[in-house]
Amino acid sequence: MAIDVKGVLSPLSAIGTLFEHPRTLTYPEVKKDIPIGYRGFHINNLETCVGCASCEEICMNDAIDMIHPDREYNVKNTSGCIPRIDYGRCCWCSLCTDVCPPGSLKLDNICTHADCDPDNFLYMPKNHKNIGEEAS
Ligand code: SF4
Ligand code: SF4
Repeated sequence: MAIDVKGVLSPLSAIGTLFEHPRTLTYPEVKKDIPIGYRGFHINNLETCVGCASCEEICMNDAIDMIHPDREYNVKNTSGCIPRIDYGRCCWCSLCTDVCPPGSLKLDNICTHADCDPDNFLYMPKNHKNIGEEAS
């Protein structure tokens, strides 16, 4: 019976990869650079948001609800409401930021969030950049 020498030896070529540079990143210690213009989580400048709900109306995925916060953020917000985003529905089309009259609603380039609680994917964007933090 002939031995398939090539078939026996070729898996051993994988040993060579032990001496190569790693091809993966040790996330979260090492993170990839996010490209400029990447559409990540929303931020909302609550000093200028007027609570008009244009963002809620334009959203084709029904990903935005207008919510009464527990405090007033600015006197121009006559409805007293601010948008809350459901990241289970959002497709990051950015229509909501396009129609925002004062330009308070924007997309940041922060795009990673892991959580076991689905309620933590309902997010009220505030003046900060971390979805996991509550602004004062
Ligand atoms: S980015 Fe698009 S899908 Fe997401 S909340 Fe805004 S309008 Fe809706
Ligand atoms: S984020 Fe913009 S569009 Fe949405 S309620 Fe505030 S001002 Fe209106």
